[in-house]
Amino acid sequence: MKTLTRVAEMQVAASGARALGKRLGFVPTMGALHEGHLSLVRRAKQDTDLTVVSIFVNPAQFGPSEDYLNYPRDLERDSGLLRGEGVDFLFAPPVEEIYPSDFQTCVAVERLSTPLEGQFRPGYFRGVATVVLKLFNIVQPHLAYFGQKDAQQCRVIQQLVRDLKLPVEIVICPIVREPDGLAMSSRNTYLSTEERQTALVLYKSLGRARELIQAGERRPAEIVREMRQLIEQEPRARIDYVALVDAATLEPLECVDGTVLIALAVWIGRARLLDNLLIEERDGRFTFQF
Ligand code: AMP
Repeated sequence: MKTLTRVAEMQVAASGARALGKRLGFVPTMGALHEGHLSLVRRAKQDTDLTVVSIFVNPAQFGPSEDYLNYPRDLERDSGLLRGEGVDFLFAPPVEEIYPSDFQTCVAVERLSTPLEGQFRPGYFRGVATVVLKLFNIVQPHLAYFGQKDAQQCRVIQQLVRDLKLPVEIVICPIVREPDGLAMSSRNTYLSTEERQTALVLYKSLGRARELIQAGERRPAEIVREMRQLIEQEPRARIDYVALVDAATLEPLECVDGTVLIALAVWIGRARLLDNLLIEERDGRFTFQF
């Protein structure tokens, strides 16, 4: 595995590989890698000839009161894990390389960035879309891999690619969970032993939503009410949102039908955790993906 830190070096390596007819698979990350990230890497390895992983904690997607400085970083451990997976290139640029001091261009995916995370993290998706577009221009992948764990991010990136006609195919991979159901996240390291137990309530609330739908409940407000009630029983949990939306537009729904996303963000101690459940209805039959 080669580690590159300069944009120009990465662009030369990518153009060279493309000129040789190789298919490039790209996995953008912020590091502190876990099995969720590695599942994307394995999928990229399977699908393509050359795998590039980036590790870049993107300052543009953190608000002033957020955890940019404390975000877990361990490049040595991460690069060992990636070497073990047979990754070809690790791209780990310093901040100045991506945001030189005269940097002034941003991209925003307007409507999809507004609800859910957008309500609580203004500017977040502008930061995400901008860095992903820059990384695509640097790495020039044929395919890029993202986790369903960040469902709204997946929609924003798909729309970015569609709107700007980017020549890259987006592959969405399923959520990887701990054996007890907690969605893997770099921020799980912030949880104390008790909080780690409390954090299970996100997954439990999605299970409750599934039960309700299976029992015939179709009213979004009722499903959200029951989920909130379950979460509020945990004194350590503080809800940012619990929402049931159209999975494509992320707009509120009147009734559970078609493809539905139930998404939630909940603070447990100093960790802000996300989880979601994707529901597809066809001919009155539901499939649940979480
Ligand atoms: P991050 O390092 O948090 O920016 O995540 C990098 C990529 O890994 C994103 O596409 C995430 O959606 C994905 N990812 C993070 N956690 C998981 C997980 N538990 N399962 C699947 N993908 C994940």
